[in-house]
Amino acid sequence: MHELSIMSEIMDTLVAESEKNNVTAVRKVFLEVGDLTFLGHEQLKFAYEVLAEGTVLDGSELVLETKPALVRCESCGYEGELNFDENPEYHLRVPDFSCPRCEDSVTIVSGNECIIRKMVADVEE
Ligand SMILES: [Zn+2]
Repeated sequence: MHELSIMSEIMDTLVAESEKNNVTAVRKVFLEVGDLTFLGHEQLKFAYEVLAEGTVLDGSELVLETKPALVRCESCGYEGELNFDENPEYHLRVPDFSCPRCEDSVTIVSGNECIIRKMVADVEE
């Protein structure tokens, strides 16, 4: 499961940060999930709960925020969101890596990452 390995890395970072900052209990974690990561939100939440057990993150809430994919076209200078083709048969959104304006291939600016944006926690005085 892809989500579990990603979440395991994120969890390591969160635990390390908590130790560094004398955190006694984590309340909330805000995670920004890029549209191009294709990570399942339900799977991420499940992995989070499993991995948080017995750590300082146990009982905390995971808040997922979707970040739209942004691309840039070197040919015409287009910068903006990526087009997605809907595949109704499989309920899939397929990214279209061609420029919406000139159809040249685009460069991904953002949307393929999963970033810890904020953590709300109790800190030891
Ligand atoms: Zn273009």
